[in-house]
Amino acid sequence: MSRPLRAEIDLEALAHNYRYAKSLSHGRTLAVIKADAYGHGLLRVAQCLCGGDGFAVATIEEAVALREAGLRNRILVLEGVFDREGMCEAAWRRLDLVVHSGYQLELLKALPETRPLSIWLKVDTGMGRLGFDGADAPGIYADLAALSAVRECVLITHLACADEADSPHNHLQLQRFDATARAIETQRTVRSLPFAQSIANSAALIGLPDARRQWDRAGVMLYGINPHMGSGQDHNLKSAMTLRSRLIAVRSARAGESVGYGCDYRFYHDGRFGIVACGYGDGYPRHAPSGTPVLVCGRRAQLIGRVSMDMLAVDLSAIPEARVGTEVELWGGALPVAEIAASAGSIAYELLTGVTQRVPRVYGNGTRLESGGGADRAAGPDSPAP
Ligand SMILES: *Cc1c(COP(=O)(O)O)cnc(C)c1O
Repeated sequence: MSRPLRAEIDLEALAHNYRYAKSLSHGRTLAVIKADAYGHGLLRVAQCLCGGDGFAVATIEEAVALREAGLRNRILVLEGVFDREGMCEAAWRRLDLVVHSGYQLELLKALPETRPLSIWLKVDTGMGRLGFDGADAPGIYADLAALSAVRECVLITHLACADEADSPHNHLQLQRFDATARAIETQRTVRSLPFAQSIANSAALIGLPDARRQWDRAGVMLYGINPHMGSGQDHNLKSAMTLRSRLIAVRSARAGESVGYGCDYRFYHDGRFGIVACGYGDGYPRHAPSGTPVLVCGRRAQLIGRVSMDMLAVDLSAIPEARVGTEVELWGGALPVAEIAASAGSIAYELLTGVTQRVPRVYGNGTRLESGGGADRAAGPDSPAP
């Protein structure tokens, strides 16, 4: 029997969440699938959402992987390219590029004759990371309009506090963005370069209607997480990943005995505990403390002791029916990943993207699962194959 740990990816949930994102948008919605689609598997997620408006990835390598898999959708590279080779590759692959710095503009100007590209002109309105000053944007727009390599300019910015819907910083960023967009609009003529706008990530799409523009960018919500909900659950969204394993040992403990590295956890009373095949080497957060919930037989049990590389322990004192082979859910539909993240002092994004390559991804629709990611999953002793 192979190791029972797997990440089950529900493609129907992904499609549902994308439809929900689109229902909020007034324009078109890019599915953000950077970082291996937040740990869900770049290509499978892209194939699932290829009927949508397009994709955004962080790097040109991710975009090239999508093209090589045969995807012909619009693909935006959020960091843009860093050298001449990258620029040529992007043109050849017909990628949409963010241009956030002067050197990227120079690379674009030096591009040999090409089919024209959509350029996403990034302005920093208060994230303090990437982007031009808004005051420079009209001049850059005019530069882009003069290039035969450019067919469209999308003004893009990223919000720093979109998950706090009442933050005054959101309004400051929107004001700056709108002032820049107006300045570009006023210098446009009928024949100038087509112009569009893009601001919203998931949190803004859900909580900041003023941020919705011709293009929105939905990331974490596709995977079932509402960034406004803390560790709660948003019933408009369906969890796309369930991290599931089984008990590989069941032990009894005497009062005073400890569990795991550092003897961090001690039983006060005689009890029972189980060892789960899942550890930080799989991406489970090492800093999850004793008390972090784990579902055993569908009921909440508590993590005890330190998380090891390959396993973790759960208190089974209240779950007498648990035995070797019993199914365990580390997070998923019945246990929000954001709750585990909060318990470990992290965020759902980090946990999802942190699931390591040794964890097989198994794809399905709803409850029907098929094997994916190269590994065959054998059903365990106490449950039928899903
Ligand atoms: C990652 C990213 C997004 C998606 O953000 P979510 O919070 O996951 O929706 C949108 N825009 C940019 C520029 C990003 O880097």
